[in-house]
Amino acid sequence: IPPRHVTARVAPLSSTLVLALVEDRTRERRVESIRRDFVANVSHELKTPVGAIRLLSDAVVDAKDDPEAVQRFAARMHTESERLARLVQQIIELSRLQGDDPLDEPVAVEVDAIISRAIDENSTDAGAKGISLVHNGERGLTLLGNREQVAVAIGNLVANAVAYSPEGSSVVVSARPGETTVDLTVTDQGIGIPANEIDRIFERFYRVDPARHRSTGGTGLGLSIVKHVAASHGGDVRVWSVEGQGSTFTLTLPRKTPTTSIDPSPGTTT
Ligand code: ADP
Repeated sequence: IPPRHVTARVAPLSSTLVLALVEDRTRERRVESIRRDFVANVSHELKTPVGAIRLLSDAVVDAKDDPEAVQRFAARMHTESERLARLVQQIIELSRLQGDDPLDEPVAVEVDAIISRAIDENSTDAGAKGISLVHNGERGLTLLGNREQVAVAIGNLVANAVAYSPEGSSVVVSARPGETTVDLTVTDQGIGIPANEIDRIFERFYRVDPARHRSTGGTGLGLSIVKHVAASHGGDVRVWSVEGQGSTFTLTLPRKTPTTSIDPSPGTTT
């Protein structure tokens, strides 16, 4: 059958359908460009610690007759390799998160356990700075979603609170119920975030003036992971901060109430 004939038998595309197809193509192109940017950023971010480790290992060889210098270079190699390990781990985490939709098969997640875990995971770093980690707020709440994702998100917020706080301060993690949501809040008495930077901190690899942190610095991926987890749960994340006084991050996620069903949406196979 000549193609023209076939075309003649197809109902004309409605304008809505055409629009939807165009939007779909636009979206596809946008996703593709985000992916390309991400790969470019990742390559750039990985090259920095890898390059530093290479230079430092040359320096160790050159300084073999100066034990003090060897010590110093070795310590910096250790710091850089830890940074590299953190980067790789967070990149893997981010790409894994992007692959699954937590609302496909939500489970009941106990908030107290998630908070305790985040506090445990950060207790060594907090202890080293004499920072007290406090679990406050309402107990016994349950949310709906993906346990691993929520744990990673709260863990990242607590890790940041510890990293950007002075010695001897406190970090408070608490939960508060809304009607259909749970607010998970992490408050610190740390360095705070300048008002003109606050819109950008959730961007991938974005760091507020890396010079103000010690060189051990983070990856700039922690908050983009938190934002992704919030969005994929149909929730959100907000920040309130005063430079020099502290910050409060609030992650809002769907709450499991006695009447919420945790059955996956119709049509999903289990
Ligand atoms: P990083 O690995 O650098 O911590 P994040 O994505 O977690 O990356 O955070 C992005 C930037 O936002 C950080 O580099 C830091 O400048 C700022 N930031 C995040 N959390 C806090 C906080 N609790 N207090 C002050 N600044 C923060």
